[in-house]
Amino acid sequence: MTVKVVERPKHTFATQIYLIEVWKGLAITFRHLFVNLYRHLLRRPNASVTIQYPEDPAVLGHRARTRHRLLKRDDGAPRCTACLLCETICPAKCIRITAENAPTVIVEKRAKTFDIDLGMCVFCGYCVEACPVDAIHMDANEVEIASYSRKDMIWNMPELLGDVKKTPSKIPS
Ligand code: SF4
Ligand code: SF4
Repeated sequence: MTVKVVERPKHTFATQIYLIEVWKGLAITFRHLFVNLYRHLLRRPNASVTIQYPEDPAVLGHRARTRHRLLKRDDGAPRCTACLLCETICPAKCIRITAENAPTVIVEKRAKTFDIDLGMCVFCGYCVEACPVDAIHMDANEVEIASYSRKDMIWNMPELLGDVKKTPSKIPS
């Protein structure tokens, strides 16, 4: 592996006293302020907007990845064969699967439990890429996953399969 050495930039007197850099930062901030103000006054479509979430639902880009979903086979059984590839590749170590022998001869194993801690997930999508049987997907615009407790951020298998609706936690009293 080739290591590329990056030289540390030399500090000049001007950068060391910070004043010029602070003015440069302020110039950028005010440039954005006045450009946006101008766009708003002219009702231009490229003006920055504040979304009044949750009154106005947030619409993310079509490539955005949000919550996970486990898929089923045609016979209604989960597609997951408990190969543990997704658990192994997950950089956040937030997937926990326990396997058991499958009762049918279609697959050797199946997941007994399948938990994903969305509070730790970095939404990289590696689990989806790694799955050899297309058993796990990520939704594109499901952003309602917030919770008041870390424990409630863990989605279990029935919730990931859509058999049980995830109920949002109550505000702690
Ligand atoms: S999206 Fe990435 S971090 Fe989240 S569960 Fe999948 S592999 Fe892990
Ligand atoms: S990679 Fe796919 S089949 Fe393997 S454990 Fe994960 S979801 Fe199940």
